Amino acid sequence: MIKVDQLSKNFNDNEVLKSISLEIEQGEVLSIIGPSGSGKTTLLRCLNLLESPTSGSLKIKDVVVTFNGKAPSKKQKVDIQQYSGMVFQHFHLFPHKTVIENVIEAPLIVQKRDKQEVVTEAEELLHKVGLSAHKNHYPEQLSGGQKQRAAIARILALKPDVLLFDEPTSALDPELVGEVLTVIKDLAREGQTMIIVTHEMHFAREVSDRVVFIADGYIVEEGKPEVLFSSPQEERTKKFLEKVL
Ligand code: ATP
Repeated sequence: MIKVDQLSKNFNDNEVLKSISLEIEQGEVLSIIGPSGSGKTTLLRCLNLLESPTSGSLKIKDVVVTFNGKAPSKKQKVDIQQYSGMVFQHFHLFPHKTVIENVIEAPLIVQKRDKQEVVTEAEELLHKVGLSAHKNHYPEQLSGGQKQRAAIARILALKPDVLLFDEPTSALDPELVGEVLTVIKDLAREGQTMIIVTHEMHFAREVSDRVVFIADGYIVEEGKPEVLFSSPQEERTKKFLEKVL
């Protein structure tokens, strides 16, 4: 469903991603792990064209974009972003809108869908993420875990083919991490295609079909979680896992 081919990204003369090639199947849950500064977030942002890759190509479903140093056009961004939705570390909710207003905003305004239908779906989504009782609350009245669950419901309202998670729990107090991971696990069980940048190794092991280890902008190693975490092949992977497990 997604094909990344020899994708590179420079910030001025800093080559942050170096010829990344990766394929993700429909329904697959892929986790991206690696040291701080290795390029994980940049890769995720390139997949959604929130960053402009410097070279290589990206294919999501029927849309192919080839990069040649120029920023992608607005149309290319819209074409790619119709299929993907990003959940950010710091939630990015509209502070002046209630939870349900946050969830219905894009389907109503961007997708111009029928209001009653959108509200009904939003209520179902808020039930799914355990926020029915908070639908009329403002973000500032929510805990971090509730804000992140609201952010997930808001993205799901757009029915993305692939969900991109950028360290979804790293801004949360430890006791709130579990409730967000449970929502993500439920989505995995339902067959939602997801790419998750995470520092939660036990979660990555539990939820992923495949794990990619990135260091210094390269894919060092990838594989099934039970193999990569238990018997990594590369020295770089072994050293990293020794530190974090
Ligand atoms: P962490 O786990 O700490 O979030 P990461 O693996 O996600 O790190 P990135 O955030 O992708 O790493 O950063 C990779 C490199 O790219 C870093 O050296 C960072 O300073 C650089 N970088 C990221 N965004 C920008 C930017 N907008 N402008 C310049 N350099 C950037």
